[in-house]
Amino acid sequence: MYFKFCIPLAQVMAGIYIHIPFCKTRCVYCDFFSSTSMSKKTQYIEALCKELELRKDYLKGEEIQTVYFGGGTPSQLSADDFVRFLATLEMTGICKSRKEKKKGCHFERSEKPNEITIEANPDDITPEYLESLKNLPFNRISIGIQSFNDAELRFLNRRHNAQKAIQAIKICQDYGFSNISIDLMYGLPNQTMITWEDTLKQALSLNIQHISAYHLIYEEGTKLHGLLNQRKIVPVDEDLSVEMFSKMMDILENNGFEHYEISNFAKPGFESKHNSSYWNGTHYLGIGAAAHSFNGKVRHWNIPNLDKYIQSINQGNLSSEVEVIGEKEAYNDFILTRMRTMKGMDLNELELLHGKEKKAYCLQQAKKHIQNQTVLQENDFLRLTRKGIFISDGIMSDLFSA
Ligand code: SF4
Repeated sequence: MYFKFCIPLAQVMAGIYIHIPFCKTRCVYCDFFSSTSMSKKTQYIEALCKELELRKDYLKGEEIQTVYFGGGTPSQLSADDFVRFLATLEMTGICKSRKEKKKGCHFERSEKPNEITIEANPDDITPEYLESLKNLPFNRISIGIQSFNDAELRFLNRRHNAQKAIQAIKICQDYGFSNISIDLMYGLPNQTMITWEDTLKQALSLNIQHISAYHLIYEEGTKLHGLLNQRKIVPVDEDLSVEMFSKMMDILENNGFEHYEISNFAKPGFESKHNSSYWNGTHYLGIGAAAHSFNGKVRHWNIPNLDKYIQSINQGNLSSEVEVIGEKEAYNDFILTRMRTMKGMDLNELELLHGKEKKAYCLQQAKKHIQNQTVLQENDFLRLTRKGIFISDGIMSDLFSA
């Protein structure tokens, strides 16, 4: 079965995020909203479809450029689950605008005009599973690998080992994926420069196109946080963290990856369009429990509770929190999102969206960082320097409006 909706080229438009809150097991560091029980899966898929119908006008007909199935673990869904959702997406007309202009536009993997991403756990990636997905329109896969070191993977309570992770990437390549992203993690207790470099080298040997790398965070309420409180683990030394990040930038940049956002690296042309939309202010519709939406003026947070989400959708309501974005929040969001990118913040866009005064304020606040060479002003852009990346939070908070 092929889905006929066509995601249009070029222009940056809107995106759809679908949250799949199911995981087979719980990783020790994870505070994402997900459940290890699959008992509500069918009801949840039905609720996702109903939410799509309820909110089909949210983006007011803006053309959809990207669709992203994130989690949780989307690869816990079967091909039939995706078919059910994608058929509803097509039926609601959310993605149909281009089809009307270009009759018979089929979205096939070989054409891949734009992005439909599935996040997957290495352990779920088997030839049988990818065979079952082969007629679905995914043209990008993001695999939660985290490390190619077995001891580190065991510590994180991941389901896979290094060999399985390597195998998973190869299976994706065998099944035609040529836009593969992997997540990696650094700053783990007991991780050394040697194991981190080995992980990076292994990643480079696998001919992937995109790497997202995150420092381990001790989020409250996680098992990891408990271990820290009980002094059963010792966090990595801060200097070593900085060295790991610095080494990663050197290794990846020397091997053809562009560092395009603080935590993201891509081969030319393989930047994540979906995630980039969060950093350039593109509107998006978030479907599912705990999903966020943004239409330029208002932010919505769906309720992070499986039962309540299903129940409210079945009653024809959307249980969500709403935040109307005032000028101050809009300006601060602009700083936060644009300064995360290595391209930086376009000062002309800042003036256009927030006025001359805000631009002057921002430049005044940036002065000391420009002098300290942690921020560079060049060609009407303000961006972090390499030195600035390490203190990015402090810089951004200096640029914020009080
Ligand atoms: S697979 Fe991802 S979402 Fe699930 S528990 Fe692990 S980190 Fe969290």
